[in-house]
Amino acid sequence: MSSGHVVGIRLLHTSRPAPHAKIFDVRLHPKGGEPVMAEVHLSPHDKIWDDCYRPSKGDVRGFLYDPASGQAGFDMSNGRNSWKVQNAKTDALMQRLLEDGPADDGDSVTGPPWVVPDHCPNCGAAVSKAKASMDLEPQCGYCHQPLPTQPRARF
Ligand SMILES: [Zn+2]
Repeated sequence: MSSGHVVGIRLLHTSRPAPHAKIFDVRLHPKGGEPVMAEVHLSPHDKIWDDCYRPSKGDVRGFLYDPASGQAGFDMSNGRNSWKVQNAKTDALMQRLLEDGPADDGDSVTGPPWVVPDHCPNCGAAVSKAKASMDLEPQCGYCHQPLPTQPRARF
């Protein structure tokens, strides 16, 4: 596996109906080698289309890279690329937030939309999720204590 930086994202065939195939421009850092630029294609026909957690520009992910052919693709054994793995991690993070545990390093809290709890952990009032999930600093509408939040996976 090589780690790589996503430096650009392009959509293909945008004149056709969505979903659109994408090309991720990636700067790969092969172990013991010089960085190389590669194009990683992702099309709705690919087996990994459903599970592939789309990176944003600037993300670092694991990629498979064949120096001989210059072909590159997502390394789905890297959990960062898997929607299922990310969702499971998000659930675990939510659980820790509700238990007031510390988040792992690298669990960045970035901004709305959030996943928020059904009920305020402080007073137990029902949370207006539609509103709280979009607030910059969600708080309980009843006791006005801050609500635990977690970033939601984005596509
Ligand atoms: Zn409350």
